[in-house]
Amino acid sequence: MLRLTWGGIDCQELAKRFGTPLYVFDTGIIRSRCKELRDTFFNRWPNTKVRYAGKAFLIRAMARLIHKEGIGLDVVSEGELYTALSAGFPPEDIEMNGNAKSRREIQYAVESGVGRIIVDHPDELKTIEEFAAKAGRVQKVMIRVAPGVDAHTHKYIATGSTDSKFGVPADSREGSMLTEAIKFARECQHIDMTGLHFHVGSQLFDTGDYTKSLEVILRLMKDLKDNLNFTTRELNMGGGFGAVINPSVPAMKSEFYTEPMMKTLYDGCKNFGLEVPCAILEPGRWIISESGITLYTVENVRELPEITYIAVNGGMSDNPRYALYQAEYNAVKVDDADGEIYRPKNGGKVSIVGKCCESGDILIDDAEIQRVKPGDVIALFNTGAYTFSMSSTYNCLPRPAVIFAENGEARVVAERQSLEDIVRGQAE
Ligand SMILES: *Cc1c(COP(=O)(O)O)cnc(C)c1O
Repeated sequence: MLRLTWGGIDCQELAKRFGTPLYVFDTGIIRSRCKELRDTFFNRWPNTKVRYAGKAFLIRAMARLIHKEGIGLDVVSEGELYTALSAGFPPEDIEMNGNAKSRREIQYAVESGVGRIIVDHPDELKTIEEFAAKAGRVQKVMIRVAPGVDAHTHKYIATGSTDSKFGVPADSREGSMLTEAIKFARECQHIDMTGLHFHVGSQLFDTGDYTKSLEVILRLMKDLKDNLNFTTRELNMGGGFGAVINPSVPAMKSEFYTEPMMKTLYDGCKNFGLEVPCAILEPGRWIISESGITLYTVENVRELPEITYIAVNGGMSDNPRYALYQAEYNAVKVDDADGEIYRPKNGGKVSIVGKCCESGDILIDDAEIQRVKPGDVIALFNTGAYTFSMSSTYNCLPRPAVIFAENGEARVVAERQSLEDIVRGQAE
């Protein structure tokens, strides 16, 4: 009977000590991902940077860990920026993305001295100029372009097509949104546009989407150089590296993505006679997802003629990803992690569901898991990304605690919400 451990600690023990549902991160895995990026990207290629996409999972302890590992941060709201700054994250290593930045967010970003603002809509430039002038500084910005490549992933996490709500079309023709924005930025005394940004989509297991997009972008860089004498000094190639859902499958290597991307970039620049820009990556999920698991306690098992439901004490409130885009997961019973998979006598499937009042509150639709009974603890793997950050208090369920564990030591880095937290700020 294999007992599952995470960060060197028995999961049953973690559940007993901290309660369930519980997000547990093995920080050793996060660190090793950061090291892999240093080895295969920063140290292998000159003039490169990585900015962790904080939207995947951002709390102060995570911001500190990422900074210690030499990685910058991408934020998309004043809340994320505040979280990072309040953890002491150096503003110059932060960039701000977002397709609908408010005036206040732009003001906060400029006044805090963030390293880059990724302009998603040309209207932002005017506001940036206004606040940068007031602050008496020059704000570096990049502009996000949509390369017009439809990524091979779920449509809700594909972002690179030309009709996407993100960015401006990669169009260098006279009068296009992009060329007008570049011209406008040039006239602003407090804006320095350093280059271009693109992000094709998320959870990509194929490098073709990246290299195809890069080819479009390289062509665009050449045209912008020829038509406007605009030099792309920096090129942010976005995130999207895939995370594997099954812990017995080896993780994707960062080189699998970075080698073809950098080769395409170098070859393209050579062909077009362009200087190779500073290359920036913005991965979220790949850094954090596989380091995280969620522990739940089974409340009951319902054997129906065609389906068996295992209902647990959390659900779409702490992990809406199945409900949102049918994200897949694997789970085990933590004190019998290699035990025989339960096959109901009726031959039907086993679904792991949550306790929220929605039929779509599913964690795993067709699960392969050991036989469980009420009170057993199960672990869902690969829940580090887009779970805590997407969680809600639907049905007034308090948000679970977050634990960082490594080498047998565990600490609470975000407390479980209390019932008082649920009503905080509400009129009596
Ligand atoms: C979501 C997003 C990322 C990170 O995506 P992952 O799939 O988590 O790597 C990076 N950049 C931008 C602009 C994004 O929107």
